[in-house]
Amino acid sequence: MSRSPRKTAKKSTKKSAKKADDQSAGRSAGKAAKTARGKWAEDASSQAVDSPQNPARGTAPETQSSKAKSSKTQLSETQPPKTQPSKTSPPGTRLPVEPAALAGLLGPYRITNGSDFRIGDHNPGDTGGLDLEKDHARDLLDRGVAALSAIQERLFANNRWSVLLVFQAMDAAGKDGTIKHVMSGINPQGCQVHAFKAPSSEELDHDFLWRTHQRLPERGRIGIFNRSYYEEVLVVRVHQEMLDRQNLPPRLVTKSIWDDRLRDIRHHERYLARNGMLILKFFLNVSKDEQKKRLLQRIDDPAKNWKFESKDVDERTYWKAYMHAYEEAIRATASNFAPWYVIPADNKWFTRLAVMGAVVTELSKLGVDFPKIDDADLHKLLGFRERLVAD
Ligand code: ATP
Ligand code: MG
Repeated sequence: MSRSPRKTAKKSTKKSAKKADDQSAGRSAGKAAKTARGKWAEDASSQAVDSPQNPARGTAPETQSSKAKSSKTQLSETQPPKTQPSKTSPPGTRLPVEPAALAGLLGPYRITNGSDFRIGDHNPGDTGGLDLEKDHARDLLDRGVAALSAIQERLFANNRWSVLLVFQAMDAAGKDGTIKHVMSGINPQGCQVHAFKAPSSEELDHDFLWRTHQRLPERGRIGIFNRSYYEEVLVVRVHQEMLDRQNLPPRLVTKSIWDDRLRDIRHHERYLARNGMLILKFFLNVSKDEQKKRLLQRIDDPAKNWKFESKDVDERTYWKAYMHAYEEAIRATASNFAPWYVIPADNKWFTRLAVMGAVVTELSKLGVDFPKIDDADLHKLLGFRERLVAD
């Protein structure tokens, strides 16, 4: 019997289970996995029937990017942005905002050509015209989790593509919470999370892509980078003394080093994409005021004290330099093969929903399904079945 992608995946799972042990994240959601096949898409089509004023009717997730602007307008024109509180809704009542509508409003945040990208054009307080009650948002998120879980099972079984989700943000923008919520339904075996901190001396003794390269996801897996090689053109650009610690030959440290690195990153991502990696990059765009509120909460709320770090207060003073570095990075590395999503991050519920919407929409586009079995293999399977039954 020919070697199916699924068998390969199983083999590699065993081999790397130990390695992935401390890197895996997310919890499996059996319920979600069972029921979720194509749920995102099903939701879209059932909504089109159920609700005549569905703003996203006929807007397939695949077409969201080109239609994003008009979808957003549609949404606010045809649907009151203030939705009815669902606290009073009986269980099972359809929510006024469906996942497909959510997918339809992501366009303005998706950057594939950075030439005219300006960070100032992006409002961190934006909620895409939505004003959802907490439990509406949670319900949508749950459905996204279910859809993602179903896709991830297929990705794993198929064992052709890998997915890299890069998260970058200023402190307290909500990276950790977003990663936790969005990945909460994923089978831990299929997911690897890495948080990149200040580099060790061993890492500093290598090229700047070395450490992240070793942590890239295997085929069939979703890898999450909580910070990434982008730090090399962000924090290191803002704090040039960090560059000094990298022991580069002096003649290579020129004025063009940041542009050179950005070009290297772009080529690196092109290379990875050509090798079957779907790369999505998220910049959680929090405002300086909202960051201040969240840092104050970390001081004022004893349950959050452990999160407070004095260096976060210091880093705030470099806000402008960081924004410049982010803008340059996004301008230089936004592409069709590795788009940036600039996600408004002043409202956590929206950040999570938008990231979820983007991940599910982009992964759906891969069209990955369980490996098909051909007639010859089916015949062999039936032979094994007969043997087992007779056993
Ligand atoms: P949190 O939001 O919980 O604070 P975090 O990602 O900021 O999470 P920290 O442990 O607070 O995690 O900080 C990690 C630090 O490591 C960041 O300040 C980041 O800029 C820094 N860092 C990551 N990569 C590099 C790098 N290549 N060179 C220098 N510093 C880096
Ligand atoms: Mg931090």
